Amino acid sequence: MTTRITHRLGHASWTGPAGRTSEVFNPATGEVTGILDLADSETVDAIVRRADEAAREWGNASIAKRTKVLFAFRELLEARKGEIARTIVAEHGKTYPDAIGEINRGLEVVEFACGVGQILKGGFSDNVSTDVDAYSILQPLGVVGVISPFNFPAMVPLWFVPVAIACGNAVVIKPSEKDPSAVNEIAALWEEAGLPDGVMNVVHGDKEAVDALLDHPRVRSISFVGSTPIARYVYERGVAAGKRVQALGGAKNHMLVLPDADLDLAADAAVNAGFGAAGERCMAISVVLAVESIADELVTRIAARMARLRTGEGNEDGVDMGPLVTRQHLDKVRGYVEAGVAAGATLVVDGREGEWQGGSKDGFFLLPTLFDRVRPEMSIYTDEIFGPVLSVVRVAGYEEGVRLIDDNPFGNGTAIFTNDGGAARRFQREVQVGMVGINVPIPTPMAYYSFGGWKHSLFGDTHAHGMEGVHFFTRTKAVTARWLDPSHGGLNLGFPQND
Ligand code: NAD
Repeated sequence: MTTRITHRLGHASWTGPAGRTSEVFNPATGEVTGILDLADSETVDAIVRRADEAAREWGNASIAKRTKVLFAFRELLEARKGEIARTIVAEHGKTYPDAIGEINRGLEVVEFACGVGQILKGGFSDNVSTDVDAYSILQPLGVVGVISPFNFPAMVPLWFVPVAIACGNAVVIKPSEKDPSAVNEIAALWEEAGLPDGVMNVVHGDKEAVDALLDHPRVRSISFVGSTPIARYVYERGVAAGKRVQALGGAKNHMLVLPDADLDLAADAAVNAGFGAAGERCMAISVVLAVESIADELVTRIAARMARLRTGEGNEDGVDMGPLVTRQHLDKVRGYVEAGVAAGATLVVDGREGEWQGGSKDGFFLLPTLFDRVRPEMSIYTDEIFGPVLSVVRVAGYEEGVRLIDDNPFGNGTAIFTNDGGAARRFQREVQVGMVGINVPIPTPMAYYSFGGWKHSLFGDTHAHGMEGVHFFTRTKAVTARWLDPSHGGLNLGFPQND
């Protein structure tokens, strides 16, 4: 049975005309489970106009009112996260505990946004000139657009939406067309939390809907997360249309293992960060840089751990890793495995063979795959594969490892494994990457820091959530005020100076 999945115009499901549609699959079985409406530019326009009306009212809502809504939303999300996680498993394929994990990380952003009274404080300077005070106020932008990827159907929307709403904006979000339902469920929770109608809106679609958002004059900003070519496109088109844009792109995250590292810790980390969510995480480790003297031992330990991993349907007990998101993506990732073999890398563990638990034979499964002796010119090294394929590149030492990381066009996350504090400190200071782990393979920042990569992993200069998120979703107004004491200087056409 398939369900129709459609847009949300504020609190209501879209009842307007349906045009083009696309299919949503259960990746574990390969079955079509949903038919998704794809918005055209008229639909996007109707939803943006509704959001624009609501933004005026919500932008004037008191901080006390916004705080109440955010706390209520936090409680509802906590209570309903199990249902949303089941939806994510059914459309994305990741395991149930992993889906709960992404919602929990999103909840942290909601908790940050609950401190709206604290985060929206402006500055105040008393008596900057005689009888004159200066202060700043943070005001909402109006309608903000969010365009999210398939791999975190709840967490990535939650990086932006709670902060945008706390700051007094109305949101139009376009989720990935591959797993669109979680955002509809989250939007319904905002309604239940008491958010006024029209402040949170969902438009489903593909390039046509994205282009309509990018070009719409009432959409003031775009927060995009996805692959690098689309991030660059969204950034350039959005900026050309006069918007502020933060566009987070792809990744190729390296983990450098020095000879003094705890090799069991490093092997656990490589497996966890390489194969969690089937490698479909922007912070996944896809390259292990192993210093030659410990490389054989490290590869042996990684392979031994991989033999214990279980792949299967995400609700099955004891399953570590689910399928890939679509048949097309599975074919692409398998193509990379074939390219790695053809290029002469050593295939240590071949994920094209083996069984999975649950799902069906038509599920989009590839088991964990390990290559050793990968060289930087091979496509399995140069390209973001975004699947359960881990590459080991052998390096002579620290310098060669850091050079490879810095030469890589992506700069999202990286990690060093070592027991040498001096090496770790040098690494954190000199590596050209936005998020760094020291004996931590997935260094995803807490909500009160900000998430963002460098180089081709981010277009625009503002990272997600934390105070950078607040900065992105507000405009600062600087006010200079004089309350009389009616004495004043009379006419003076000179530039204002302070005394
Ligand atoms: P994607 O770029 O294919 O899609 C992202 C969004 O853009 C979707 O909403 C999609 O509908 C839209 N889109 C796709 N093609 C488009 C086009 N031609 N024109 C306009 N819009 C278009 O990415 P994906 O496959 O959904 O997600 C995986 C990618 O996202 C990976 O590259 C991953 O590294 C990246 N990602 C990055 C981060 C980060 O924080 N840097 C986080 C999560 C995912």
